[in-house]
Amino acid sequence: MASVRVRQLVKRYDQNVAVDRLDLEVEDGEFMVFLGPSGCGKTTTLRCIAGLEIPDSGEITIGEERVTDLPPADRDIAFIFQSFSLYPHMTVRENLSFPLRAVRTAQMEIEARVTEVARVLRIERLLDRKPGKLSGGEMQRVAIGRAIVRRPRVFLMDEPLTALDAKLRTEMRAEIKRLQSDLGATTLYVTHDQLEAMSMGDKIAVMYGGLLQQVGTPTAVYDSPTNLFVAGFIGSPSMNLIPCRRKEEALVLDSAQETTPVSLPIHGDAAVRFAAAPLGATLMLGVRPEDIALSREPKPEFLAVEVYVVEPLGSENILSILLGGHLLKARTAPTFPARVGETLFARVDQTRAHLFDTQTTQRVSEAA
Ligand code: ATP
Repeated sequence: MASVRVRQLVKRYDQNVAVDRLDLEVEDGEFMVFLGPSGCGKTTTLRCIAGLEIPDSGEITIGEERVTDLPPADRDIAFIFQSFSLYPHMTVRENLSFPLRAVRTAQMEIEARVTEVARVLRIERLLDRKPGKLSGGEMQRVAIGRAIVRRPRVFLMDEPLTALDAKLRTEMRAEIKRLQSDLGATTLYVTHDQLEAMSMGDKIAVMYGGLLQQVGTPTAVYDSPTNLFVAGFIGSPSMNLIPCRRKEEALVLDSAQETTPVSLPIHGDAAVRFAAAPLGATLMLGVRPEDIALSREPKPEFLAVEVYVVEPLGSENILSILLGGHLLKARTAPTFPARVGETLFARVDQTRAHLFDTQTTQRVSEAA
């Protein structure tokens, strides 16, 4: 396996910049997920790394080798697409053997590797079937098998689970993750599904508008988003974003719907984290739904809120609450009783909340 390094990668289609000066390092054995909305440049980046697109500028290195100008076949990578692309007239065994035959591997070696891959992917009993007689999940396993049988330096996967139904996706998600870690395979994986990204990646590279927004572990990206785009894109329900201003000792929420502005006194621990946010400037306070504590009784530091909507999801309830005219979402235990229209008391966990500059969109408070 090998590391992958991308330096100042630019890819344009006519006037449209699909990938804009992208810098990225993927360590040997790492599982890197590219995440972002449709059209943000994820696939184009992966295709440039695969050699299927020629970059306008920039450099791509696999291991110690500069591969920017090499054709795909000379990069020693395997590409797994959303469509399974198996040969329909060949059995599973022949499909798995094909990439090895293509490079004239000895018959005994082919048999040994196909047996090993079939064992790892638990598809031994399918070896003599043709793709037409396989389920979607089985076909995807064979497609993955065909990629790993060559033992390439890097796996590139572009939305490989999109065609599967929801239950199978969840199963395959866990399987691919386990397989990747067993093989220690450097993997670059494209998805627009944040659950997939959070649950599978060692690291997530969040892209938007051709620009890399943030790279980090799922926890780091979730807990400390670097800007308003990442804050709003990752997490479901998304992070509450409330316009506010910082005063010396309080955050004053912008008045909404002609209500009196609500003031959140800044707690001792948060004062240091919030210190870099300019006084008086318009900021955005970012609070995850799980970082709003609710109480039925008034308590110190808790503010009165009105329950607007209750969404019971079984394992949790999502409450929409009105605080100073702002509609916020809070996550509660399913056992927490709440009725529309009643008054509750809410406290924002300031040790986990963030402040963003509305002009630059960057986070200006310290990481959580
Ligand atoms: P999706 O999740 O929808 O596949 P993506 O994040 O993978 O999106 P890309 O497919 O990389 O995005 O596309 C990035 C931008 O480049 C988009 O604006 C897209 O329209 C444009 N683009 C991609 N391929 C081509 C092409 N072959 N010709 C012209 N424009 C293209």
